[in-house]
Amino acid sequence: MDFLTWRKAELHCHLDGAVRVSTAAELGDFGRPPRMVAPDDCPSQAEYIGYFDDAIAVMQTQATLERIAYEVCVDSAAEDIDYLEVRWAPRLHLRRGLTVPQVIESVLAGLASGPIRAVAIVCAMRQHSVEDNVALAREAGRYAGRGLVGFDLAGDEIRFPAGPQRPAFEAARAAGLRLTCHAGEAGDPKNVEEALALGVERVAHGVIGAREPRIVERIRSEGVVLDMCPTANWKCKAVPALAEHPLPRLVRAGVRCTISTDSRTVAGTTLSREFELAAGMGMTEAELRACNETAYAARFG
Ligand SMILES: [Zn+2]
Repeated sequence: MDFLTWRKAELHCHLDGAVRVSTAAELGDFGRPPRMVAPDDCPSQAEYIGYFDDAIAVMQTQATLERIAYEVCVDSAAEDIDYLEVRWAPRLHLRRGLTVPQVIESVLAGLASGPIRAVAIVCAMRQHSVEDNVALAREAGRYAGRGLVGFDLAGDEIRFPAGPQRPAFEAARAAGLRLTCHAGEAGDPKNVEEALALGVERVAHGVIGAREPRIVERIRSEGVVLDMCPTANWKCKAVPALAEHPLPRLVRAGVRCTISTDSRTVAGTTLSREFELAAGMGMTEAELRACNETAYAARFG
């Protein structure tokens, strides 16, 4: 199967995890090569998140944000992705004086200038205060329907639970944004239940929740979609080996799953490569096409 030429949708792509290394090297002043690709033996989600830092450091002006958003679209078109949801945390881009609206407008401008249909999801961060995340939801909500489609929560899952961020999700919903949440990438299966309790339509990853039959049944019966990312999940050690990834089992159990990269640069992958890896786990062409169709069906934009 030549996945490169399949027309594909990707729903889980972090802008700061998909920056070209060459772009960061050109824009940054690190005094060393950028450190942007997590190694295979990356020990944890917390360590994995550290590989986003150099990209975030260069994404502090409107011009760099717009350029990087555009380049992600170009890179996506090159592997026949024609629908892309890009997510990022606007509050990580305020170090040089930008405001949240300026950050959002820059990314939306970059996505709009690209060769494919690309829309944005804002990520609140688990380590930020609920007040800051409520404010983000309200500011982002002003762009609902204008290229910004969703609201997400990301960051260190072990140290910062999702439950206390409920007011931010409520504000985002009230503003017209669709809801998703990172969970089940580290820590305990109950983190996935905590995300479901927030009323999300999709869960980013959900991998560790798949260990609990009760949680799998709830996800299946409620029709919640899992946006799974095999290489990134493995590098975060949500699974000890790629061969043990629950994607095939979940699809066969009737759970709606999509395949994404999470972070092409940090994971060191492409969407086509993730489909190849899923085929290597024994998934059939029909199962893989179903995951791709689920991505189109569950899109927020
Ligand atoms: Zn993610």
